[in-house]
Amino acid sequence: MSFDYDLFVIGGGSGGVRAARIAATHGARVAVAEEYRVGGTCVIRGCVPKKLMVYAARYGDAFTDAVGFGWSVGETRFDWPAFVAAKDREITRLEGFYVANLDRSKVEILRTRATLEGEHRVRLGDGRLVTAAHVLVATGGRPFREGEFPGAELCIASEELFDLKRQPQRLVVVGGGYIALEFASIFAGLGSQVTVVYRGEEILRGFDMEIRRHLHAELDHRGIEIVTEDVLASVEKTSVGLVATTRGGRRLDADEIVLAIGRRPNTAGLGLDSVGLELAATGAVPVTGVYATRLPWLHAVGDVTDRIALTPVAIREGHAFADTVFGGREVAVSHELVPTAVFTTPEVGTVGFGEEELRAKGIGYDVYRSNFRPMGAALAGRGTRALMKILVEAETDRVVGVHIVGADAAEMIQLVAVAMKMGAKKADFDATMALHPSAAEELVTMRTPSQHWRPGA
Ligand code: FAD
Ligand code: NDP
Repeated sequence: MSFDYDLFVIGGGSGGVRAARIAATHGARVAVAEEYRVGGTCVIRGCVPKKLMVYAARYGDAFTDAVGFGWSVGETRFDWPAFVAAKDREITRLEGFYVANLDRSKVEILRTRATLEGEHRVRLGDGRLVTAAHVLVATGGRPFREGEFPGAELCIASEELFDLKRQPQRLVVVGGGYIALEFASIFAGLGSQVTVVYRGEEILRGFDMEIRRHLHAELDHRGIEIVTEDVLASVEKTSVGLVATTRGGRRLDADEIVLAIGRRPNTAGLGLDSVGLELAATGAVPVTGVYATRLPWLHAVGDVTDRIALTPVAIREGHAFADTVFGGREVAVSHELVPTAVFTTPEVGTVGFGEEELRAKGIGYDVYRSNFRPMGAALAGRGTRALMKILVEAETDRVVGVHIVGADAAEMIQLVAVAMKMGAKKADFDATMALHPSAAEELVTMRTPSQHWRPGA
C-alpha cells in the first residue's frame, strides 16, 4: 500500500516538532499538523513565556539588593502591557524559528486540527483525508478546568494568564503544584497580592518534605498567603471583581482566580477509538517503552502519554522515536534521574529521590544539609535562606538525591544531574575542589551528615 506520507505528526509542540524534523533528515516524507501555533505549549504558553515572566518578576529583588550595595534606585514601576508586548514579540520570533527549521528540513506544516479516522488515515480540518505509514500522536495536554464548585467558569487557567489586558492586583491561585506556585511567585514579584489555596497539607506534593516546607516558609516570607487544606466552595462576580468563598469559610476578593489544578492529555475527539485504541483513565495514550502503542503504525510521545510532563522529556522521546523508526538505530530514553526545577522565587532544583521516597523503598541514607543566607541578599538584609540537601545511600555511598531551594537552583541541579547520571558517590563530591565564593561550593564542602536513616532502625 502506498501512503501520502511516511510520517504524519499530530501536534507541533516540543515532541512533535523534534520527531518531524529528525524523521525528515532521515529521508522520511513528513507532515505535521498544528491546530494553534507551532512550538506548542512550551514555546507559546508554557516554559518560555513563563520564564520571561520570572525574569520580569525578579527585578524587585534586584532593586532592593542594589540599594544594599549603595545604589540609589529611583521610582520603579512595572508596565504590564509593555511587558506583554515584548514577550509576545519574542514568542513570535521563536515560533518563526521553529517554522523555519521545519521548512529547512522539508517537513510540510499543516496549520489545522487533525484527527484519526481509521488505520493510517488522518482527517484534516479542511475535510481532506490523508494517509501515512506511521502516525505520531504528540498532542500534549491542556489545563484541567473543571472546578467542582459554582462559579468555576469565572476562573481562568494558566493559558489566559499570559495575555491578560491588565495585571490582576489581587490574584487567587488554586493548586499547590508547579504552575500554581510559579505564577503565585511571578505575580507576587510583580506587586500583586497573591493567595494560594491548596487542598493538601503541604505544597508541592511529590517533592522532598523538607524542601516543601522550606519553600512554603520562603513564599510566606515574601508575602504570599498560602491557605492549605482548603478548596474553593464558590466564586461570584461582583461590581468590583470576583469573590471566592472557601469550604473553610474564607472570603477572598480577587481580580482573577486561576485554576492550576493539573493538566490532562489532549486526546478528546482525536479519533483514537476509530482505531480501537483504549485510553488510560486520565485520557493518556498508553505506551510501552519510549513511544510504542499497541498498534505498530501508531506512536505517541510527550505529555499526551502522561508520564513526565517536561519539555526535554518530550523532545528526547520524539528524537528517539524518529531515530529508531526512520534512522535505523534503536535509541532508548531513560526516565530516571530527570532533573527538574520549579521556577518560584526562590527556585527549587531537584534530581533523584527525596527522603520520603527512600524510606518507602527501604533504602538507608545519610543526609548532608546546608541552610545558609545567600551572600547576594546579605547587604540589603533580605531575609531569605537557601537550603541544599544531599542524600547518600548508606550502603554504597552513592548520591541518590540532591535538592536545592535558592537562587540558581535550576542551573546547579542540571550539572549535578550529570554527576549523578555517571553514578557519582559522595566521595566524588568531596574530592571535587570547591569554587569560591559561590553557593554551589556548598555541594562539595558538606562533610558531616546531619541525619541518618536505616530501615528498621
Ligand atoms: P505540547 O508542547 O503541548 O504540544 C502539543 C501541540 O499539539 C500543541 O501545540 C497543540 O495545539 C497541538 N494539538 C493538540 N491536538 C491537536 C490536533 N488534534 N491537531 C493538531 N494539533 C493539535 N516544562 C519544562 O520542562 N520546563 C518548564 O519550565 C515548563 N513550564 C511550563 C509552564 C506551563 C504554564 C505549562 C502549561 C507547562 C510547562 N512545562 C514545562 C511543560 C511543557 O510545556 C510540556 O511538557 C511540553 O510542552 C510537552 O510537549 P508535547 O510535545 O508533549 O506537547
Ligand atoms: P501539578 O500536578 O504539578 O499540580 C496540580 C495541583 O493541583 C496539585 O497541587 C494538586 O493537588 C492540585 N489539584 C488537582 N486536582 C485538584 C482539584 N480538583 N481541586 C483542587 N486542587 C487540585 O500540575 P500543574 O498543573 O501545576 O502542572 C502540570 C505539569 O506541567 C507539571 O506536573 C509539570 O510536569 C509540568 N510543568 C513543569 C514546569 C517546570 O518544569 N518548571 C512548570 C509548569 C508545569 P495534590 O497535590 O493534592 O494532588
